[in-house]
Amino acid sequence: MIVAADTAALLEKIDAVPRPLCLVPTMGALHEGHLSLIRAARQKVGAHGTVAVAIFVNPIQFDRKEDLEKYPRPLEKDLAACEEAGADLVFTPDASQMYAADHSIVVSENRLSNHLCGASRPGHFSGVCTVVMKLFLLFRAQSTVFGKKDFQQLAIIRRMVRDLNVPIEIIGHATIREADGLAMSSRNERLSPEQRADAPIIRRSLVAARDLLSLGERQAEPILAAARFHLEKSPLLKIDYLSLVDAETLEPVATIRRPAILALACFYHSVRLIDHVELMP
Ligand code: AMP
Repeated sequence: MIVAADTAALLEKIDAVPRPLCLVPTMGALHEGHLSLIRAARQKVGAHGTVAVAIFVNPIQFDRKEDLEKYPRPLEKDLAACEEAGADLVFTPDASQMYAADHSIVVSENRLSNHLCGASRPGHFSGVCTVVMKLFLLFRAQSTVFGKKDFQQLAIIRRMVRDLNVPIEIIGHATIREADGLAMSSRNERLSPEQRADAPIIRRSLVAARDLLSLGERQAEPILAAARFHLEKSPLLKIDYLSLVDAETLEPVATIRRPAILALACFYHSVRLIDHVELMP
């Protein structure tokens, strides 16, 4: 496995690695969710292609200083996990490698980003689009894998690729969960034992609300109320947003007539977690 710690090292190697190349962008603190993306990348390129992983905690997508500072960075462990999962090339730049001190160009998406995490984390998605575009250009990847857990991110990356004619295929990968239903996340490590024990309420509330849909409910209000009712049982969790949105436009819907998403972002103290369920009418 090749490890490139800076852009010069990456550019020196990138012409020589076998194609096709599939890129898995991550911020590290790798868990089973990330590893299943790496394995999906291998499936995509076959035994003779290249599976590349980027590990970069991208400062410009963080809206809270504390979240950036406390983001876990277990690099040695991550490299071992990449090797074990079958990656061929890992890129581990630091921020000074990725952004010139006077960098002044960003990629922003201005429609899907107005909702959900984009509304509650100003500048987040332009930080994401900018770094992802840079990674696409550095690797000249034929394909890339993103988790559906971050479904708004996936929708925005798809939109960026469509609108800017980026020649890359995007593969969306199912969310990997802990046995108790909690979606795997690097931020789960920051939960106290008590918060971690409480956190499966996130998934349970969303599933309980989705169950109303299977009983025939089509109005957003009672579905949102059902999720809120469950979430409010937790004394530890604070809702950032709970929204029912159209699966394509991400705009709020009042009546479910097309595929929709019930999306939640919440805080356990300063740890912010997200999850969602799909609602198919
Ligand atoms: P992150 O390191 O959080 O930026 O995530 C890197 C990639 O892994 C993104 O495409 C995420 O959507 C994906 N990912 C994170 N958590 C999960 C999970 N539990 N299941 C599947 N994919 C995930």
